Amino acid sequence: MSAAQALTGSIVANTVQKWLRAWYSTGMPDAIDLEVVRQMLPSTPYGTGVREIRPPVQFNDDAFEGMLARDPNDHEVWGIAYNGKSRLERQRFTIAHELGHFILHRSQQQKFNCDKQSVHTGIETLRDIEREADDFASNLLMPGDLLRSWVSSQRIDFRVLGDIAKRFQVSLEALCIRYIKFTTDRAILVYWDNGFVKYEWRSNSAKKTRARIRRNTDPQEPLPGTLAADADIEQEWDGIEMSAAIWCPEEAQHMKLREFKHSHPARDRVLTLLLLESAEPRRWDRSWQDEDGFDGNNR
Ligand SMILES: [Zn+2]
Repeated sequence: MSAAQALTGSIVANTVQKWLRAWYSTGMPDAIDLEVVRQMLPSTPYGTGVREIRPPVQFNDDAFEGMLARDPNDHEVWGIAYNGKSRLERQRFTIAHELGHFILHRSQQQKFNCDKQSVHTGIETLRDIEREADDFASNLLMPGDLLRSWVSSQRIDFRVLGDIAKRFQVSLEALCIRYIKFTTDRAILVYWDNGFVKYEWRSNSAKKTRARIRRNTDPQEPLPGTLAADADIEQEWDGIEMSAAIWCPEEAQHMKLREFKHSHPARDRVLTLLLLESAEPRRWDRSWQDEDGFDGNNR
């Protein structure tokens, strides 16, 4: 087993950031420059045996979001391709994801074809290498120390998260997924596609306190009385306070949550963020009861 196989996406991303900080003697920009990373990698211990990673090229095939491949004629050269129709923030995430495969997985495969599900969702049902590449991209583009200092000093809403996403040049969605995995607060993120749940992510403390969304139908539709169900409201970036029990059946009646809503303009896709009041962990809960497949696996 090579040393690279023991590394995780977040450890590798931290190391790359350390190199970047040294490279930028006058301070690193908030939005990581992936061109610098691409050009730097072959000269680092993560690029052993590689002469060059070629500049990323666009392709317009909706079957893939991104690709990493070794040049069949020159084994010291690798190349990246990305979906040119995606938004700029998404393209950045995809290129970072492919750089993650380059560092972590190129000893296992000559070619990586990454579809829309694989890039950027970080859902738990993905193959390990896809989750690791997402983890790398997420940690590289949204460094934990910066994120921590920015979120800890203010009350969170979609405006705050949207501003941070802009500074990192990532999508609001990518920032929210990172936030959910990062925060110590109770938070739930739901991604709706054409009126049904596509993914759901919960923060650790939401899992520990058994905060979960009431299931009504399969596939899951928005619950009555929520912003998600209100077709007249497309955006709610400040959040609306409501009884947590409207969303989560096991919450006590006095518990409150704030619901946020962001609709993507062109398509029928909606992002819901729920920030719940804090609660004591439910110690009697057994983790297996809480992991019965709803999270992140609704397509
Ligand atoms: Zn991938």
